[in-house]
Amino acid sequence: FPDVTSTLPIGFLGLGDNDGTNSPDIDVVSTNTSNGSDKTLIDLAATMKEWDIPYDDLNVKEAIGKGRIGTVYRGQWHGDVAIKVLDTGSSADNDAQLAAFKLEIAVLRKTRHENLVLFMGACMTPPRLAIVTSFCKGQTLYTIIHLNKNAFKINKAIIVASQIAQGMSYLHARGIIHKDLRTKNVFVDSGKVVITDFGLFHITKLCSGVQKENRLRVPKGWLCYLAPEIIRSLKAMQQSQPDLPFTKMSDLYAFGTVWYELLCNDWPFRSQPCETVIWQVGRGVKQSLSTVAAPREVKEILMSCWAFRPAERPDFSQIAKALNRIPRTRLIRSPSHPCQLSRS
Ligand code: ADP
Ligand code: MG
Repeated sequence: FPDVTSTLPIGFLGLGDNDGTNSPDIDVVSTNTSNGSDKTLIDLAATMKEWDIPYDDLNVKEAIGKGRIGTVYRGQWHGDVAIKVLDTGSSADNDAQLAAFKLEIAVLRKTRHENLVLFMGACMTPPRLAIVTSFCKGQTLYTIIHLNKNAFKINKAIIVASQIAQGMSYLHARGIIHKDLRTKNVFVDSGKVVITDFGLFHITKLCSGVQKENRLRVPKGWLCYLAPEIIRSLKAMQQSQPDLPFTKMSDLYAFGTVWYELLCNDWPFRSQPCETVIWQVGRGVKQSLSTVAAPREVKEILMSCWAFRPAERPDFSQIAKALNRIPRTRLIRSPSHPCQLSRS
């Protein structure tokens, strides 16, 4: 996948409007602050107080890395924590956006699952907005696969994928859409999977520097996780991020890409320009699996997750069952190809 952040000029996207194939799922977070939802916000404010961590209570240490919405620091707060400080610029002054941030934070406190990062609280006083979670040891799948070039043995790949499916199944059962499932947001430590950054995507609206005028900003390694219905609604916006129609089914599509990476140690549509990927995926073209020698069950999972119509994608409990059905003993890895099936 292209290693540079790309920007596409306005008017490039000639894919037409969404064709109505979106799943009817809706995001649980409403950012409507008018009338009826005022009371909700007041109730929420009371509940949120217990999750509010004063920034000065945190012992912020070195920066670990910078992502799309801010910088992550290692820190201490009753033990090791990761502190994601949002790059808000001046936009955090905007009350509606701050309310949206609090609503998304409110979603995080509902999550308790061993394959999900532990949300500990947030700094909610502008201009210092930050999200505090447990510190993930180990490495991300991205680092293992793409930087260290370590191939997962197929049985290990199935175990990792099963844990992702379980964590995602829990999130969906709670009505939470991840919106940013990718190998950079999945940690593996001693065989245990921890998923991070769920439900945060709309926080990007708060952050400065995420938008360039008249250009669609395409962060590297992002496009191949986007389902066709998301690709088709990408727009080069001047004022704000497009309100992308993420659903549970678009999470399934992203999982398909993670599954592909686990199996093939590579990105789908590798080396193809963004424009080509957008054009192809938006029209239902999939990464060819013709060179991937894998059993039928493995390819079926991939193709079902990548189904063009959201309604045709399975849910995560079906994925977990399908992963369990893969006959593990039949599989060996060939030294020449990561997904070689033994024909003997
Ligand atoms: P991205 O997901 O694009 O890598 P992030 O802002 O989420 O961007 O993360 C920035 C860096 O911080 C990455 O190197 C990521 O692995 C690391 N990181 C994020 N969350 C945690 C966490 N909970 N524990 C440890 N490291 C983390
Ligand atoms: Mg992340």
